[in-house]
Amino acid sequence: MDYARKVRNSRPCKVVMLGDAGSGKTCLLERFLHDSFDVKSKPTIGAAFGAKMLDTERGLVSLQIWDTAGQERYLSLASLYYRNAQAAIICCDLTERASFKRMEYWIKAVRSAEKDCKIYVCGTKADLIWDKLRSRAIQSEELTIFKASSIETSSKANYNVFPLFQQIAEDFEQIYSGEINSTGSSRSLYHSNSSKQHANNNDTGPTCCSSS
Ligand code: GDP
Ligand code: MG
Repeated sequence: MDYARKVRNSRPCKVVMLGDAGSGKTCLLERFLHDSFDVKSKPTIGAAFGAKMLDTERGLVSLQIWDTAGQERYLSLASLYYRNAQAAIICCDLTERASFKRMEYWIKAVRSAEKDCKIYVCGTKADLIWDKLRSRAIQSEELTIFKASSIETSSKANYNVFPLFQQIAEDFEQIYSGEINSTGSSRSLYHSNSSKQHANNNDTGPTCCSSS
């Protein structure tokens, strides 16, 4: 099929970024959309939007991504952002325990409002642990307790960011074609290529690739 036709046949997939303020949502999206990382990332006011086309085994998926601000004062608005979302990336900073607690809040909120939204639990800023600048406050296994796909990323080191979004697009196509459903199982998204660069480090994030 030629590319123009593939684009015409592409399916839109609404993705929302949720999580505590400072958990790394905007940097994750910036890395994915523009392959860049800005240490002076500014707090997002309200919500920002970005879209990108990804090729999957079954065709093109147009990821339409909403980046929400996690601040308390926007909580009531957040439900508007995740309405009809097909996927939610729920971020926590791996070096901040409070960030993990907030993640539980978001998971419950999305699950109760959007039954068909597939949830991706994302532990961010893994580079801070590798570089021994901060200590790990959330263990890899803890990310897997939510019956959702889980992954550890670093937007700064460009670790697991593209694989996460690619997985969302692949899963979306599978869900769309009825091969899998959007809820129910825990799965660590482990990508051997992207973790190779950190193979000598003892703390490289998920070490298993279970899919149940
Ligand atoms: P948001 O409020 O969830 O959108 O968080 P931001 O994406 O704005 O990031 C908050 C802070 O964490 C900023 O100072 C970023 O520079 C920093 N940050 C985000 N991602 C990473 C990362 O992967 N590694 C490191 N070292 N810092 C990060
Ligand atoms: Mg932000």
